[in-house]
Amino acid sequence: MPSERARVLITVKASPEPSKTYGDTVCVAGVRLHDDGSVSWVRIYPVAFRHLDSELQFKKFEVIEVDLTRSTKDARAESYRPNWETLSRQKQGDKFKTYPMDARGHVLDQLIGPTMCDLRAGVEADLNAQSLGLAEVRELKSLRFEDHGPWTDEQVASMTAAMSQPDLFGEIDTTPVLITPRYKVHYDYRCMNPDCKGHKPRILDMELSALQHHYRFRSDDELKAIITKKFHTEVWNEKVRTYFFVGNFGDIVKRKNFSVLGVYRPQRESDYRATLF
Ligand SMILES: [Zn+2]
Repeated sequence: MPSERARVLITVKASPEPSKTYGDTVCVAGVRLHDDGSVSWVRIYPVAFRHLDSELQFKKFEVIEVDLTRSTKDARAESYRPNWETLSRQKQGDKFKTYPMDARGHVLDQLIGPTMCDLRAGVEADLNAQSLGLAEVRELKSLRFEDHGPWTDEQVASMTAAMSQPDLFGEIDTTPVLITPRYKVHYDYRCMNPDCKGHKPRILDMELSALQHHYRFRSDDELKAIITKKFHTEVWNEKVRTYFFVGNFGDIVKRKNFSVLGVYRPQRESDYRATLF
């Protein structure tokens, strides 16, 4: 498969999941910025993000350049495999540069499209239909928490086996083994479809995993309050418009299930579609 050079505005990094090959991997999604000014969704997978050199650990809302190859195992149009040896990140002084807020808004407002109900209906009609989207939220109910529980024996065995394999240079991966978060957290919301009966997706956002890890010694109630503030109060209030970055699963059996991978919440009065760059 030929590779192609892509400029990608990174919009979401999903929660890390155990992997047989890499220990653990994440799914990264973003927006391809084409030379003619058009934009399109892209999914970059697999990404052994925690195991990348720190110089390669790009941040959300950076624009990266990387060679991508169409995924042979995944027929969804947005799915590509990355070649990290070709990664280039933009620096400004000593720091890696993130895309300015107005420019982000200009790109993302163009991608606000099908409602969550429409995306689901699309996949019901064609398993390879649009698999990433930015779905507007009409009503957001309280978060739902569920105990995460331990990894399965199979997951633990594959993580341990993958990480004890020496790499090409004979070195063993010393990244700490991925620990489980305390909670699985679900949204409960209605999209803009007037007939929407509601959606209850799991939040699979790396920031949720990171937050739970950072506050892992807090009590259950304290941790729930911290998560609620960041994933509910700050995303659903009179000051902002609220959209979920949604994506479905590669597994054909689960293909109709979309998770929330992140939140886009511009100021309520903003309208970036009219902005020229
Ligand atoms: Zn809906």
